[in-house]
Amino acid sequence: MEVVTRIAPSPTGDPHVGTAYIGLFNYVFAKRHGGRFVFRLEDTDRQRYQPEAEQRLLEMFEWLGIEPDEGPELGGANGPYRQSERLEIYRRHADLLLETGKAYRAFETAEELEAMRLEQKRLGRPLGYDGRGRSVPREEQERRAAAGEPHVIRLVTPDEGEVTFVDRLRGEVSIPASEVRDQVLFKSDGYPTYHLANVVDDHLMGVTHVIRAEEWIPSTPLHVLLYRAFGWDAPEFIHMPLLRNPDRSKVSKRKLDTSVDSYRQQGILPEALLNFLATMGWSMPDGREFFSVAEMTERFDIDRVSLGGPIFDLKKLRFFNAKYLRDLLPLEEVADRVEPLFRAAGYEWDDDDYLLDVVDVLRPRAETLMDLVDQAGYFFRDTLRYDEAARKQLAAGQSHLQDVERELSMLEFFDYDGVDDMLRDYVQAQAVGMGKVLMPLRAALTGTTQAPSVTDLIVILGKEESLRRIGAALTFIDAGLPDDDPQRALEEEKARKAAEAEARTSHKKSVGAERAAKARASGASEEGPR
Ligand code: GLU
Repeated sequence: MEVVTRIAPSPTGDPHVGTAYIGLFNYVFAKRHGGRFVFRLEDTDRQRYQPEAEQRLLEMFEWLGIEPDEGPELGGANGPYRQSERLEIYRRHADLLLETGKAYRAFETAEELEAMRLEQKRLGRPLGYDGRGRSVPREEQERRAAAGEPHVIRLVTPDEGEVTFVDRLRGEVSIPASEVRDQVLFKSDGYPTYHLANVVDDHLMGVTHVIRAEEWIPSTPLHVLLYRAFGWDAPEFIHMPLLRNPDRSKVSKRKLDTSVDSYRQQGILPEALLNFLATMGWSMPDGREFFSVAEMTERFDIDRVSLGGPIFDLKKLRFFNAKYLRDLLPLEEVADRVEPLFRAAGYEWDDDDYLLDVVDVLRPRAETLMDLVDQAGYFFRDTLRYDEAARKQLAAGQSHLQDVERELSMLEFFDYDGVDDMLRDYVQAQAVGMGKVLMPLRAALTGTTQAPSVTDLIVILGKEESLRRIGAALTFIDAGLPDDDPQRALEEEKARKAAEAEARTSHKKSVGAERAAKARASGASEEGPR
């Protein structure tokens, strides 16, 4: 039997991380078993319907690379895939249940139902529809319906006993039949309820495994009764643990950003988001933390899902993202992804090698694509703005800047080793700490002290541009570092201390293995914040 799974989102609100999560597990399960993954839009709740939500959901899956085999745009043998286009099918199936006496038309008004509820409350009885409409003769039901009297269609459910189903991860789950209570299948607005449409579609679309969030467990007994009423075999049910806020409550947008679009805008990579979601309640048999969807598919075993509520931990997501950005994706790939963002920020460059160099040197310091955009500004700006820490460095480093300006302009071989040797020789000759020279230079070249190695900066910017920037910084110093408000002295002092502390504790990371090797060979090292 071919495995068929589905994701059945409702088009309301922003595409939700929970939909991506459940979509991933359905996709991987289907692919693991050589099956199909269906996208179905559950859009029968017309009050909550948002027309643009469908497109955004499809785009989310496209961005994630979790592509359905059948869906509203792709089509497929079991379409249409929008429930709003299947109303006739649900009506036919409701009629089937009416004809066989498994369902009935119920005509109670809202006031009658409210009176019933108050009475139940007063008597201390369990609340819920008491089945009173069952006793209306079928002919009378049909006559009143034909006369246009508003009504709903309800399923006949057992009054006593338990309704039981098997959840693959939990075993048998039972609830008292009294809790199912002749639920509504068709509403008076002519639309089916979620329950009827969901069961009919899962059956007709050949869904073999229903993998969904555990919040649907309370609906499943009713679904099981519906399968029975139609005389169909029920699919296998697998309820995934709910994603949790850090305080362990169900993931919600009040406490956490739940919009996939928003993570995308922040520069989270789809690979990282998927890898992160894959670790929510699941782990690779070999304990590997980083893996692709293809690798997950190869080793996927749904029985390894653990039910303890996985926490949607933003720090972990950013950590995963940084890992993909720095190590797991090739440089060219990262450059491709960041390119449109750089362009949108107004950055311009002539030569794609420049883009690659910038991304190469910055990515060890970035957690998201937007971090790259924020940090890269000085590579693309003609006029720098010097931050407080940079000003401080400039003020202290005037003579070194003048010296290095001269040395650099005289440098014959302008390449990594040439620049690196020049800086090293100069520092040695001055007999000062590296930072005394390199920090003012970093400030002059970037306007900040939080930047990569000065050698890298000079090599990437080029000789001419580096000289221009050092010259501009010297002019700025000559002008008395304008905007040097004495009231900021305190702030500056704090910034300076923080920069120094960071300089002391920072690790010297290299930019690309080749450059690191070169730096080691030439014995160069640097102080300063990384
Ligand atoms: N339309 C439901 C949702 O929005 C589908 C639940 C299910 O998978 O059965 O999640």
